[in-house]
Formats: sequence, structure tokens, C-alpha cells
Amino acid sequence: MPGPGFFFFGDEERKEVMDVLESGYLSRYGKDDDLRFKQKVYTLEREFAQKIGVNYCVAVNSGTSALMASLVAVGLQPGDEVLVPGYTFIASMSSVIAVGGIPVLVEVDESLTMDPQDAERKITPRTKVIMPVHMLGNPCDMERIMALAQKYNLIVIEDCCQALGGSYRGQRLGTFGACAAFSLNNYKVINSGDGGLLVTNDETLYRRAFAFHDQGHFPLRKGVEVGNRTLIGINMRMNELTGAFALGQLRKLDVILETLRMKKARLKAGIQAGGLEGVSFRRINDPGECCTLLTVQFEDEELAEKAAKALNSKVVYHSGWHVYNNMEHLLNFRDASGTQRYRKNMLPHTDSILRRSINLSVGVVDPGLGADFGINPLTPEEEIDRKAEEFIRLVKPITG
Ligand SMILES: *Cc1c(COP(=O)(O)O)cnc(C)c1O
Repeated sequence: MPGPGFFFFGDEERKEVMDVLESGYLSRYGKDDDLRFKQKVYTLEREFAQKIGVNYCVAVNSGTSALMASLVAVGLQPGDEVLVPGYTFIASMSSVIAVGGIPVLVEVDESLTMDPQDAERKITPRTKVIMPVHMLGNPCDMERIMALAQKYNLIVIEDCCQALGGSYRGQRLGTFGACAAFSLNNYKVINSGDGGLLVTNDETLYRRAFAFHDQGHFPLRKGVEVGNRTLIGINMRMNELTGAFALGQLRKLDVILETLRMKKARLKAGIQAGGLEGVSFRRINDPGECCTLLTVQFEDEELAEKAAKALNSKVVYHSGWHVYNNMEHLLNFRDASGTQRYRKNMLPHTDSILRRSINLSVGVVDPGLGADFGINPLTPEEEIDRKAEEFIRLVKPITG
């Protein structure tokens, strides 16, 4: 089952897509003076930039592309190291490798986001970028991450793919770093099947990111530009159908987030009412989180394992996605020099936390996250209360 945006799909997206079908303009580039050309991708970029409160946005074909374009925009060179957490989607690492960089894995803390203390230990003279990932909608400890970046002169690229619309201390996620990447894939807060958005406040980074996403061209080009291109790019363009669908979803963002907040708060309160011993919730770094999941943490691994079994779910450590230990393609990867940098259980603190954590679904209903138990964004209140009671009934005999 997909992410929250999917549950809110309706006539609004349909209308946006019909506009495109009726116009016949499928590419983001069309005749500006033809009134039938509705410029959906361009409109999406402007509306998203406005929503997040940044100067510039580039719409691309995936969140992975948005990360790659960010890394190229800030000037990452082959061999440069990028700090990434060990609990994240593989795209945080693969995007770095794809543009010649070296992902350096960092422990996560109880919030399931990058542990700033371990990040500091992993800094070397080759470190250029720090990539905090706002994991499962939870903002990273941006105060400490930004302080670290300043102290060691590192560039921050925020991976906001799981946290579109979230904020930290009243400031939107994606506005802290030099660039930020958002995803519109099927599992995200809003979705258009696939797609991505890159944001920045820096005009130079914007021009470079845009150029990389479209064969070296500058933003708002008209036709073919010859003579001014300074950067070799590839093609990561978003098309009008995707842009139209995403626009319909973006305009529902506030409703979606509001709904998730209410549902999660209710589920959490219901479970808390059970007063279960040795059971807590993951640390949330700011109430501006996206509330896509509710992560329960147990005092010890054995309890967590038993509870997962009772809930017919899995501890996060054994879930398919996001756990570096389960990324055999990463673990087996050798860089150009033949060096193998990653091995199983290289992040013992992360392993221990993931063995003690269980994800309950709220907005993202994905067994790949271990979120087999829980609710969805449309679950009515009485049913949420019943789910919370069921959780207590199943877990109480285990915790005693
Ligand atoms: C989804 C996601 C991405 C990008 O995924 P795409 O499928 O390429 O849009 C990157 N990082 C994280 C943490 C993600 O969850």
C-alpha cells in the first residue's frame, strides 16, 4: 500500500491531468504564447518554492535525481566523502555513488535520524557534504547538524524525501541546507507515481542543478541554447502529466498533514493509556514532523522481537527497506580503487536501536518498513481506538 497522498487522490488531480491531455503539450517546454499550454511543471516549481519558502525549485523525475542534481550543483568531486545515516533509503547512498562520491555511513540515534556525535567522528579531510535524512517524517536534530557543518565547513544537502511539508523550530525542512531533495514516489507524503523536487535559495546552485537535469541548459530556456552551456548534464526532466498530478496533490498538502497529525496523536494517546512497562516511542526532534509512522521502542531486543511476533509485524532491523545491513548491493560494492567500505553490523548502535524498534503505520502503510500493524490516513477514530486497544492487549502479556 502506498503513501498518504494516494489516499487523497481525487477529482483535483484528474482535472489537472485532463488540462494536459486537452492541450496536447506533454513536455515541460511548449509555446509560451499558446494559451492551451498550461505549464504544469513550471507552475509546480513556483508553487512548491512558495510553499517551502525558498527562491528556486527544479522539478525532476525522481527524488534520487533531485539528490544527484544537488550533489552536482554543490560541486561534489570524485572521491569526495558524503556523510549519510545507516538507516535510510538506498537512494541516499546510491545518488552519491552515481556522481562519483563516497557515502560514509553514520549511526542513527533514538530518533532514527543521523546521530550528530557519530557524524563528527566520521569526518575526514575528504568530507565535503553532510546529508541529514529526515527519516520517516522526523526532522533531524538540525541545530547540531548545522553547527557541525559550520565548524568543519561542510555543505549540507537535506534529504527531505520522506518529510515533504515538515518543519523544524517553525522553519520548513529543506531550507536549512544549501540544497534539498524531495520525492514524489508512491510511498511519500504526496505522490505522482514518481517524481522529485529540488529546492535552493542560491541562484548559482539553481542554475547548476537545472543545467544538470537538462543537458546543460539554463532555466527558462526558449528552444535550443548554443554557446552558453558550461556544465555537462543529463536528462532528469519531469513531464507535464506528472507535473499536473503533483500539482493537484501539492494543493492538498495541508489537509494531508493535518489529518496525519490528528490520527497519529490519537493512536499514540490510545497506546500510552495502556501504561505498558518498558515501551516508549522514538524521540521526535520537533512537533513539525510529518506523522507518517508511529515508532514504538522497547527496552530490550527480546521484548521487541516477541512484541513484533504478537503484532504479526517485524522489528525494523528485520524489515526489508532502509536498513544498511539488508542492502547487499551496497555491502558488496567496491569503489573504483577496489575498496570495499561497507560490512554487516558496522554500525552497532544503529543495529541495537533497530532491533528494539517497531514501526506502526499511520500514513505510510508499507510492510517493507515493518509497518504491518497500524492504521491508514482514512481510518475513523473509533477504529483507531480499537487498534490502540488491540496493541495493548497483544503486547501487555509480553511486557508483564
Ligand atoms: C524515497 C526516498 C528517496 C528518493 O526516492 P525516489 O524513489 O528516487 O523518488 C531518497 N531518499 C529517501 C530517504 C527516500 O525515502
